[in-house]
Amino acid sequence: MKLLRMNANENPYGPSPRALEAMRAALDHCHLYPDDRALALRRKLAAIHGLQPEQVMAAAGLSCLLCLIARALLGPGRNAVTGEQSFIMYPVAAAAAGGELIQTPMPNGGFDLGAMASAIDSNTRIIFIANPNNPTGSLVKADQLEGFLRALPAEVTLVLDEAYYEYAQQFARLRQYSRALDYVREGRNLVVLRTFSKAHGLAGIRVGYGMGPAELISRIDRMRTIYSVSAVAQAGALAALDDEAHLRNATERNAEQAQVLLNRMAEMGYTVLETWTNFLYCRLGTDAEIFAGRLADGGVLVQPLAGWGAPQAVRATIGTPEQNQIFLRALARAKKAVTPF
Ligand SMILES: *Cc1c(COP(=O)(O)O)cnc(C)c1O
Repeated sequence: MKLLRMNANENPYGPSPRALEAMRAALDHCHLYPDDRALALRRKLAAIHGLQPEQVMAAAGLSCLLCLIARALLGPGRNAVTGEQSFIMYPVAAAAAGGELIQTPMPNGGFDLGAMASAIDSNTRIIFIANPNNPTGSLVKADQLEGFLRALPAEVTLVLDEAYYEYAQQFARLRQYSRALDYVREGRNLVVLRTFSKAHGLAGIRVGYGMGPAELISRIDRMRTIYSVSAVAQAGALAALDDEAHLRNATERNAEQAQVLLNRMAEMGYTVLETWTNFLYCRLGTDAEIFAGRLADGGVLVQPLAGWGAPQAVRATIGTPEQNQIFLRALARAKKAVTPF
């Protein structure tokens, strides 16, 4: 049986056909090393975001970039601060750099900026905030974030992980959900992270990027292995940026389908948090590991969240309309199996 992957927040619509075409063409030259500086991609990203190419760096996915940031800024005796229900790579990156990670409580799945500010000490060098957050789907509002950023001590860098930027912006519609790039243009001490893995549908290709002050970006970039972003990845990312219609389709369908799933799952009696992303955080009221096993027997994979301190919650990626109907049917069967009657 082919399992439906609703456990990794991948884009079910896949990449742009233009990106596929560019990547196939790049294969003809794969005996050559890629451009180590990824200059064409960085120039294009800089132009799109109103920055200089020196303020942009590319890496083999944000997971990789997070480790480079931690290596540049942390080390023994230094620490980073984040929330206790956030992206799995923050603890990994901090530990790999020999630093400590301080995790503050997240009431109802949202970052508590007050608690995070209080956790900062003289050894803190990084704050990690995923906005929207994975796995809870929550958002920090732009005004709150701005106040928080202004109050940070000079030696503390805010790492603002906007992996789901395109999805969140679709939910926000005409409002701007994040003013992160304004802060970069103002020269503040932060790095804004975006990736081609999610809305662009290129998770298997491994390319993400960071934007911040040129000096800081150069310091982080020095930690990078030479030729780390492949020629195929650079070509695919460049072409993906040209296909706005493909991106719009993926994000619009996602917002529609989020509503379909939210309504139906609420009718079934589940508590589902409001989402700003391409997945839902769902409280089941029963052991999530066992429930996820039943769903897998029905052909659908979701992510149980015991490792995030939520043994009764799962994270489920929003699929295509067809996939979501399969998911809802499997959910109804799994629910019956755990409800005594
Ligand atoms: C998926 C995700 C990423 C992206 O990881 P890549 O390594 O670029 O694939 C980064 N941050 C968060 C919060 C994510 O959920």
